Amino acid sequence: MGKSKVLIIGGTGYLGKRLVKASLREGHETFVLSRREIGVDIDKVEMLISFKMLGAHLVPASLADHASLVDAVKLVDVVICALSGVHIRSSTIMLQLNLVQAIKEAGNVKRFVPSEFGTDPARMENATEPGKVLFEEKMMVRKAIEEAGIPYTYVSANCFAGYFVGGLCQFGKILPSRDSVLIHGDGNKKAIYVAEDDIASYTIKTIDDPRTLNKTLYIKPPKNILSQREVVHMWEKLIGKQLHKTTISKEDFLASMKDLDYGQQVGLGHYHDVLYEGCLTNFEIGNEGEEASQLYPDLHYTTVEDYLKRYV
Ligand code: NDP
Repeated sequence: MGKSKVLIIGGTGYLGKRLVKASLREGHETFVLSRREIGVDIDKVEMLISFKMLGAHLVPASLADHASLVDAVKLVDVVICALSGVHIRSSTIMLQLNLVQAIKEAGNVKRFVPSEFGTDPARMENATEPGKVLFEEKMMVRKAIEEAGIPYTYVSANCFAGYFVGGLCQFGKILPSRDSVLIHGDGNKKAIYVAEDDIASYTIKTIDDPRTLNKTLYIKPPKNILSQREVVHMWEKLIGKQLHKTTISKEDFLASMKDLDYGQQVGLGHYHDVLYEGCLTNFEIGNEGEEASQLYPDLHYTTVEDYLKRYV
């Protein structure tokens, strides 16, 4: 069996650009949706052209134009969506639902990977408000996919390292301090951190794998299942210096939400669930899922320790 042809939606995004490169690297014929709405955004246009020079095909279409989407989907076997998750309650949920309708109509897609790449939304019924909205929206997309009978893989990528490791797991920080750090609660709840390039590589590995058909792929690299204190300790070892530590209780952390705008409240809710509730590590993977580093042991994932070296 040849390698699947892949269409990537949201290809110029933070994760999307890595998916495009991983797909090309793995030898898939790769198509990237070139949204008409990009207009004169020169950075996006340049990135799309750079993909073309690497061998990708650019497919002009609009997520709001059903016929153009159906035509784009008909070109490929696999569709991966990496649309933004930050435009809360905005059009992106509707755009993903449009995409599901187009895939259903096209009828040729062997695997669809919707834009999830985080906490498994099926396990987040008790998520903190208002962050819960993001999981509810991702579940709406799942429902549409399953009702349409579209073959899928959901990718639960846990914490993007750039957002979490860079900031030593502190909300609102993406660069590590050399002086002080705020510890969430006792700082001992375990979370899972994954380098963004590895998320892209695991995702591409899974699209032709029958073991992950209609399942969730959980990315849980064993060396990257760490508490905040362990991440901080790794950083301290790298810079040869102890940071001054203050702690923030769960109650104070949640109370700090009231001064934030809505989007930040959603983000803070997620940090709360990950760092105070341990929502990423408080369950075992059942029959509905597979673990990526076990399925693909040849992929040498980036450890948190190595990831931190970029900031020294
Ligand atoms: P980005 O914010 O980088 O956006 C990705 C793409 O979405 C853009 O490049 C653009 O596509 C498209 N897009 C954005 N806004 C609109 C809009 N209003 N209308 C149409 N298209 C739009 O996304 P990320 O890469 O940060 O997120 C991808 C996924 O990863 C999301 O599901 C998100 O929830 C998840 N995520 C998980 C994190 C974690 O720690 N687990 C952290 C961050 C994200 P185009 O290229 O066509 O312009």
